Amino acid sequence: MKTIAILGATGSIGTSTLDLVEAAPERFEVTAVTASSNVAELAAIARRTSASLAVIADESRLEELRAALAGTDIKVAAGEGALAQAAASADLVIAAIVGTAGLAPVMAAIRAGRTVGLANKEALVSAGALMIEEARRSGAVLLPIDSEHNAIFQCLAGQDCDQVARLILTASGGPFRTLSAAEMARATPAQAVAHPNWSMGAKISVDSATMMNKGLELIEAHHLFDLPEERIDIVVHPQSVIHSLVEYADGSMLAQLGSPDMRVPIGHILAWPERMATKARRLDLMDIGRLDFEAPDPERFPALRLAREALRRGEAAPLTLNASNEVAVEAFLGGAIHFGDIAAVVEEQLNRMDQPLPTSIDDVLALDAEVRRATREALKVIAN
Ligand code: NAD
Ligand code: MG
Repeated sequence: MKTIAILGATGSIGTSTLDLVEAAPERFEVTAVTASSNVAELAAIARRTSASLAVIADESRLEELRAALAGTDIKVAAGEGALAQAAASADLVIAAIVGTAGLAPVMAAIRAGRTVGLANKEALVSAGALMIEEARRSGAVLLPIDSEHNAIFQCLAGQDCDQVARLILTASGGPFRTLSAAEMARATPAQAVAHPNWSMGAKISVDSATMMNKGLELIEAHHLFDLPEERIDIVVHPQSVIHSLVEYADGSMLAQLGSPDMRVPIGHILAWPERMATKARRLDLMDIGRLDFEAPDPERFPALRLAREALRRGEAAPLTLNASNEVAVEAFLGGAIHFGDIAAVVEEQLNRMDQPLPTSIDDVLALDAEVRRATREALKVIAN
């Protein structure tokens, strides 16, 4: 029996995780589930899974959660300390909170020496060096859920990257792959979140449309696999059948294939080092017929260039990239700025900020808050 804590249980990754965990009650026991503010859904999940602990991040909702779980023996709690407690409560912690909000809980899991199934790429982008260092100290194991990194992890088959020539991250190209720059500039939030292949949360869907998602994944890959920026390539592959590739020194290339369904990489991490059955649709190669590849367009997708620059600069540049992007995406989803403004806002913050990466998580979060404040100020000018 493996114990599982699910951080961000109400989200897209959280829901896919629950689908797998609930179908295999003989393998998994849920210790804790968490959500941002949706009490009704969190309480329903806690009841269904018989979790020991339900945590709501929004402290003002604690009494509401207590009432929703009255009559059960499920413990309830709220706020940051409780999220950290949930994160340290299981053998395997599924880190599926979106954004830097997930960083402190992920660090709590790492400090406790847990195995972490990491979906929350923003934590790694902001403070990857600290997370990796802490994992070395505590013996925590970081396992990638993000489909590209999970694909690479599978292709590496337990080997380190000594004999790896390069990693190739595949990108679907997002919903705007074939739009002109002028069409993209006018794109609405509804168009940006309508991903052709994957069904995901709103933030990552917009990141896919700008291709900032692939930029964040470049930085994520650098930390997870300890390879420099110039040995990680990005190729657009519109069918999302190959989830990424590893090229070895001898010229061999290994790829992992699967239908675009997050239950495949999540199931791989849940069962690791074993395997488990999932209900994901099987690939029918005859049906697929062909696989296409093309180079990403740096003109229409400036986020890729910004992410490469941030990774080359290192220190707090990736944190700045991520924090300003989170604020810009929220503003775009709220209708305050245009699609084309997102990358421009991020670039402005990258040009303005030049700081070392702090050595403690508290200082990282303070810097993150400072970048957010500055980005909001910059947004006021655009929105006016
Ligand atoms: P989502 O928006 O669907 O869900 C986010 C979850 O985090 C929810 O449970 C929400 O309650 C919780 N949350 C949000 N803000 C919070 C806060 N301030 N404090 C505590 N909890 C908070 O997002 P998602 O699509 O499931 O993505 C989650 C993470 O996984 C992201 O980092 C994303 O980049 C990554 N990821 C997602 C997919 C996907 O297919 N959805 C694929 C790869 C990676
Ligand atoms: Mg991905």
